[in-house]
Amino acid sequence: MLQSKLFTKTKKEVPSDEVSKNAELLIRGGFINKEMAGAYSYLPLGLRTLSKIIQIIREEMDAVGGQEITLTALQDKTTWEKTDRWSDEVVDIWFKTKLKNETELGLGFTHEEPLTKLMKEYISSYRDLPRSVYQFQTKFRNETRAKSGIMRCREFIMKDLYSFAKDEEEHKKIYEDLKEAYKRIFKRAGIGHLTYVTFASGGVFSKYSHEFQMVTGAGEDTIYVAENKGIAINKEVLTDEVLENLGVDRADLVEQRAVEVGNIFTLGTRFSEAFDLMYQTEAGEKKPVFMGSYGIGPGRLMGTIVEALSDDKGMIWPEEVAPFKVHLLLLGENATTKEEAEKVYALLEEKDIEVLFDDRTGVMAGEKFADADLLGIPYRVVVSDRSLKEGGIEVKKRTEEKGKNISVEDLISLLEAKS
Ligand code: ATP
Ligand code: MG
Repeated sequence: MLQSKLFTKTKKEVPSDEVSKNAELLIRGGFINKEMAGAYSYLPLGLRTLSKIIQIIREEMDAVGGQEITLTALQDKTTWEKTDRWSDEVVDIWFKTKLKNETELGLGFTHEEPLTKLMKEYISSYRDLPRSVYQFQTKFRNETRAKSGIMRCREFIMKDLYSFAKDEEEHKKIYEDLKEAYKRIFKRAGIGHLTYVTFASGGVFSKYSHEFQMVTGAGEDTIYVAENKGIAINKEVLTDEVLENLGVDRADLVEQRAVEVGNIFTLGTRFSEAFDLMYQTEAGEKKPVFMGSYGIGPGRLMGTIVEALSDDKGMIWPEEVAPFKVHLLLLGENATTKEEAEKVYALLEEKDIEVLFDDRTGVMAGEKFADADLLGIPYRVVVSDRSLKEGGIEVKKRTEEKGKNISVEDLISLLEAKS
């Protein structure tokens, strides 16, 4: 992509009511636009990163047998009355609306109810189980506080997977597979080293649920990390009994602020019983389906990556989620230098190496460097009169202080080796 053609530009200013670091950097970089508190649009660079995060999640969900669908945002009141989750007294984050004939509708904040109802159309026998179904779908939540940038929105995409199993034993295996899939997702997204499987409250059917909490000062949750065990405990459930249960010594705990990037939850038969989602066992018995739910917010994940990995100059994207792999900078107005940079651009494109080419004229070198630091693309490649005099181009990783001069051939093998 040519930066001279990109409709977004980097900015010095952010909306005066913006207080979160992730939104500040993403807005300044032209990744997102703030429509209002808790509502952000994704622009070309931001959408590229969001799509990469979604693709990582999709691959890992497919790898554990997930089947992708999309449910509607519009929700039927009668469906939610079956589980007593329609009333605003019970669920205080609903956005509701009305048809012209006054029939009430809701905008989905989660999808256990409609999916359980849908699965009743297809599951009736032990032969139909187990199944896992997931979606990337827009959720609406009337959150009280929306000050954490894209980490807490009133409209956001969620990946939600729901599992349907014959019994608790079968469910446990799916649950463990999903737990491992989640670990792979956060590792690939570049925050594996900061993310802890965190014991949280489990509801009626299970002692615990598991949250994936990424440690950051910008987090709204408090967790206690047991580094020696590689796990954490949410403050909400920390008791002597839980510590004993998990074999954790209180002295080994370190209190941390953290943000929940994902969670996995045993639903049991709460929803299947409400919607009469039953199946016939091999012996001819009727039993309720045993369910689980597994959520991740791709936008929240994107925001946490910015919170965790940026520096005072800007964002630092891990390779798998960066909008581009290479930021190619042309410096100076010299015709041969320009020609050389265009050649490098064409070669990278030909090799399918994703590149943003800063081909803008009339922009000073210092500004191009500052923009490159802000956008945080993993490799910065500079073609200038000086680099050509020194025998090639200059390559520098976003995380490195100094670059080095290499030939175009060496650049290609460096970039191809890393992918
Ligand atoms: P929190 O406790 O932070 O409010 P939650 O427990 O309500 O989150 P879930 O309902 O389990 O979250 O949603 C699953 C995932 O969706 C969360 O782990 C998070 O990654 C994401 N998510 C939840 N709420 C939001 C939001 N308001 N904006 C962006 N992402 C969200
Ligand atoms: Mg939670």
